[in-house]
Amino acid sequence: MAGDWLVAENLGSKAEVPDLIPARMLSEFAYCPRLCYIEWIDGEFQDSEDTADGRYQHRRVDSKEDTVSQDEFESVHARSLFLTGPKVGITCRIDLLEGDGDGEKVTPVDYKRGEAPDIPGGAYEPDRVQLCAQGQVLKENGFQCDRGIVYFVRSKKRVPIAFDKTLVQRTKDLISDLRKVAEKREMPPPLQDSPKCNRCSLAGICLPDEVNLLKEMEAKGGSEKGLFGKIRKLLPSRDDAMPVYVIGHGHTVRKKGDILEIWSRDEGKVKEARLREISQVNLYGAVDISTPAVIDLMQRGIPVLYFTRGGWFQGISTGHTHKNVELRMRQFEWAMDRKRSLSIARAVVAGKIKNCRTLIRRNDAEQPKQVLETLDKLSGDAKNASNAERLLGIEGAAAEVYFGRLNGLLKSENEFSFENRNRRPPKDPVNAVLSYLYAVLAKEMFVTLLAVGFDPYLGFYHRPRYGRPALALDMMEEFRPFVADSTMITLFNKRELTDKDFIQTGIGVSLTSKAKKKVIAGYERQMETEITHPLFGYTVSYRRVLEVQARLLSRVLFGEIKEYPAFSRR
Ligand code: SF4
Repeated sequence: MAGDWLVAENLGSKAEVPDLIPARMLSEFAYCPRLCYIEWIDGEFQDSEDTADGRYQHRRVDSKEDTVSQDEFESVHARSLFLTGPKVGITCRIDLLEGDGDGEKVTPVDYKRGEAPDIPGGAYEPDRVQLCAQGQVLKENGFQCDRGIVYFVRSKKRVPIAFDKTLVQRTKDLISDLRKVAEKREMPPPLQDSPKCNRCSLAGICLPDEVNLLKEMEAKGGSEKGLFGKIRKLLPSRDDAMPVYVIGHGHTVRKKGDILEIWSRDEGKVKEARLREISQVNLYGAVDISTPAVIDLMQRGIPVLYFTRGGWFQGISTGHTHKNVELRMRQFEWAMDRKRSLSIARAVVAGKIKNCRTLIRRNDAEQPKQVLETLDKLSGDAKNASNAERLLGIEGAAAEVYFGRLNGLLKSENEFSFENRNRRPPKDPVNAVLSYLYAVLAKEMFVTLLAVGFDPYLGFYHRPRYGRPALALDMMEEFRPFVADSTMITLFNKRELTDKDFIQTGIGVSLTSKAKKKVIAGYERQMETEITHPLFGYTVSYRRVLEVQARLLSRVLFGEIKEYPAFSRR
């Protein structure tokens, strides 16, 4: 046995399971097995108002930690007591331990935020089970303990819980079930239509209704008839935290308390933002950042991304990498399997072609019938491509048709036009803006994939090449038309960009610093735009959709849903 982990070999697979289950996780398991799995096995957590408030309510009991043994336990109270019970298989932190004064009989008290529920027994099962597990640990440590108290902070009510035979057996059964789930390494299915999901802080990670809907659709042979818009919207439409961009030489990023400040050498402090309101920091060109700022950002899980002045992604500073190793193992397995890789590649390419078609159908005044029909056919062909080479050919053919028509989306009175797609370097302003936007979108996808737990460098369609974020490039395909191309069209059609925004060099065209700021502002507007999700029917920002797609991909790799459902608008 190594450390406090033992290697369990069962069901033909090896899975490492901790010797001791935290009593809090047992409570989560009783509430929802999937919730416990995501938190404990996958190591993912997301604060909600409830969980943050819960921590706040615990602050008093956690402020003082006591250690106690039966021999020395004479005081009436001990707070925030850490105990282990190897035989029971539980580790726990007891908020408050009350004794009877002679050091023998003890009562654990567990603090819960909120009101005491008006139900028989006075407390929900997860709370009763957690307390009972604590009671079993206390017994193993030599104490007499046959009851506990749940203390509800808001209603200031103490609810006694007797550790009777039924509750003790239920607690034991749950410990055994949880251990089996951990050994099997199989995420339990989402709850069906459960009100528990309404307040669950992990709903955006778990996607209960989305996964259940996709499973239902798969069972109906892919039909979504009668299912559109049927599900609840459990995730917020948009992130509260926003990216920060610092563009250009002569800027310094510093931290002062909980505030991130941006200073200009010439103008002094130019901007500031609360650290908790920032999702990522993007530095373009020779921007300085202080070490305390980088460390604080890393501790908060906020990535700092470095770009050249021209927008090339140079690198990233992040805190510890995502704990979900299992997901990365699945990703590598799938990437090594041509057939499975192809199934994902087909979906993303078909989704992208469909979105190209929709963008033209919605914005091209002439409604070019031939173009729309060809893109429709190519999207269908992509879905059925027999191999990666064939798929590449279909994508190339669709790009030629699409870019051949893109000029029709720019207003005729516009001083800019588009003939064909060119890059490295782009030869005209439209291509310069497209290249810049694609790089920003690739960066966004890169950060999203990292946050979900993927390795952004290993893809299923784009093959590995040193330094190429292949998975980010795969996953951005669906979003190129509606995020990048659409932003470009708006910027030119609304005349936000003029010829003063571009610099003609000997070999191509590049954007001025001012133009880059305008392009990023346009991109941010688009990312925050709320749309109706084409499958799930709720309103959601593009930025949130990126994360939903990455999470759905992870559910495919774990076999929860069979086909990757590309994001494609109608
Ligand atoms: S959202 Fe629902 S199914 Fe998912 S973890 Fe939370 S409670 Fe469980």
